Amino acid sequence: MNIFFDVDFTWLGLDQSLRPGTHETMQRLLADGHKIYIWSGVGIRWPEVHQHRLTPYVTDCFVKPLSQYAERVAQMDLPVWPDLVIDDFPEVPAALGGFWIRPYFYFSNTDDEMEVIYRLITEVARTGRSADRRFKPKPLNGASA
Ligand SMILES: [Mg+2]
Repeated sequence: MNIFFDVDFTWLGLDQSLRPGTHETMQRLLADGHKIYIWSGVGIRWPEVHQHRLTPYVTDCFVKPLSQYAERVAQMDLPVWPDLVIDDFPEVPAALGGFWIRPYFYFSNTDDEMEVIYRLITEVARTGRSADRRFKPKPLNGASA
């Protein structure tokens, strides 16, 4: 699957720290055969990807629409369609299909949300869905690639 990760409060804290488990999660998703894309409403985030040494896992970076997600993504002419989006802002997975992730603000070594998200992604990859309340399926009336 093409998995699109948001940046701020998804894996990057307000304190610029990297959410625990981000490396391991991206490494395993890649090993499982998924492709990882990074997008952000504030621009192309290669600098943060490089700074946190996530570069080997990331296929490309894009700008994320700030509203009307499905419509705008359809107009963006992306080289790939997001199969699953991971975002701390619930409207994004609600519009495109994917997981809401608990917002990450400050470094905490007890934050295990990335591990939870990894397990949920593998569940969706295997079964096509998840009963977890974080999951929103891709809307049937949404635009498709
Ligand atoms: Mg965010």
